[in-house]
Order: sequence, then structure tokens, then C-alpha cells
Amino acid sequence: MVKNLLSIDLEDYFCDLPFNKWKKYDSRIEKTTDKILDLLDKYNHQATFFSLGYIGEKFPELIEKIIKKGHEIASHGYYHKDLRKISKEIFEEDLLKSIKTLEQISGEKILGFRAPFFSIDENNFEVFHIMKKYLKYDSSVFPVKTPLYGLPNAPRKIYKMNVDNPLIKNDEGDFLEIPLATIRIPIIGNIPIAGGFHLRFLPIKFLKFGINHLNKTGNVAMCYIHPKDLDPKMPHIPEYAWHYYWGLNSAAKKFEYLLKNFKFSSVRDSVSF
Ligand SMILES: [Zn+2]
Repeated sequence: MVKNLLSIDLEDYFCDLPFNKWKKYDSRIEKTTDKILDLLDKYNHQATFFSLGYIGEKFPELIEKIIKKGHEIASHGYYHKDLRKISKEIFEEDLLKSIKTLEQISGEKILGFRAPFFSIDENNFEVFHIMKKYLKYDSSVFPVKTPLYGLPNAPRKIYKMNVDNPLIKNDEGDFLEIPLATIRIPIIGNIPIAGGFHLRFLPIKFLKFGINHLNKTGNVAMCYIHPKDLDPKMPHIPEYAWHYYWGLNSAAKKFEYLLKNFKFSSVRDSVSF
């Protein structure tokens, strides 16, 4: 069976808000992550946890628990900043702070990064030069067109990136991109089948078909989930749009269905750099 890739963006449900509003809300990250860890144990899968440095600092025992279970810790930045709204200097500072914090707690080298909000577009490609200084891979490229994010012309399969133009490959390069899973439908374009909102929104049979299709053509699917995606009790946040709450009741069941039907691993354990 093909080993697909599973990633968890480790952040609390309120982390899409600006940092100064986070203190208004009570954390649910330990409880909601435990639910994911139990399911991974049950089906014997490994995953990559793209953690905020902030979460590491607040909940070091959670990071230790994840490491003890053999999963990988990678970086999701420190303060969950939208990279389209900050300078490259601030990005580098935030990234380094997260790497330092997570390495200290995990005792392991941090190899990869995922941009909060998948916030990379053609105006901030220089972030890849910064990542490459410290890391081996990135998993922020979403080859889809959505109102919120996406690089529809990027390669859909794992590739060595040309860091000057991340939309093209450089087979001689040494920085790896692991795009989020999509399926290509003629005329319509690329449809996301990776998880998160798409897991909550799309029929599970369609997601299964999409992952199977990738696997049959010799490719692995990079899937992702947030702890909040599986939390029907996520408190109401006035600033959040409808899509944050769509399908929360059935998401855990759908997620478990994927775990039951496919094999998943962390990036570190199954991708060669
Ligand atoms: Zn995030």
C-alpha cells in the first residue's frame, strides 16, 4: 500500500485571529490534539505536526508527547502570521524563533515549514530563499485557485524547487516542495482533496477517489487537518466566516475513514531529501 503523507497544523482554534486577541479565548489544543493522537495510535499511522512556536512554548508537554509517539515536529511559524502582510525580515525572525523553540523542546532538528493560511503568492516568493537557509522542505504550495489562497500553476507532485521561481522544478536543487493534494478535473481545474475545510465540505467518497487516483498514478497525497477541524464544540468567534464551522460534526468520522482506508506517514520518515 502506498504511504501517503499526513500533516497536522498545530494551532489553537483562535489562532487565525491577530495575536492581540488570542488571550480572550480559552485553549482547547491539548484536548483536540489528544483526539488526533488517539486515532493515529488506533490505526498505527505517523504524521508531521506543523506546530506554532507559540504552542510549543505554552504546551511543551504536548510537543514531548507527539515526539514520544514517533511523529515529526515541523514549523508553522511562531505567531501564525500571514506572510503576505509582513516583511521578509519579520518573516525570518518569526521562522527562526519557531525553529529555535521547537528544536529546544523536541530535541530534534526541524526540517520543514508550512505557511499559515497557505499565504504565499507571486508577490512574496522570496520567503523560499529564507526557508532554504534553515530547512530541507516546504509544504505551503496549494496548486488550486481559491478566493483565499492558491498557486494554480504550481506543480502538483513533490518536486525539487527552483527557489527563484517556485512554480518550476530544479532537479539539481536541494530544497523540496511537498504540495497539498489536489485532483485535476478537465476544464474545471485542480480540486483540493487535502483535508481541512475540504475534508469537512466534500463528500468522503470523492476524497477517497482523489487519493486513490493519485496513488494509482504513482503519487502520494499530502493531506492536512487542524485540531479545530474535528472539534464540534469549537467556540463561536465573531470574526470567523461560515466556512470555519461547516461540517464540524461529521469531520472526525470522515477523518477516521481516511485513516482506516489509507496508509499515512510523516514527511521525515518517508520522503528522501
Ligand atoms: Zn495555520
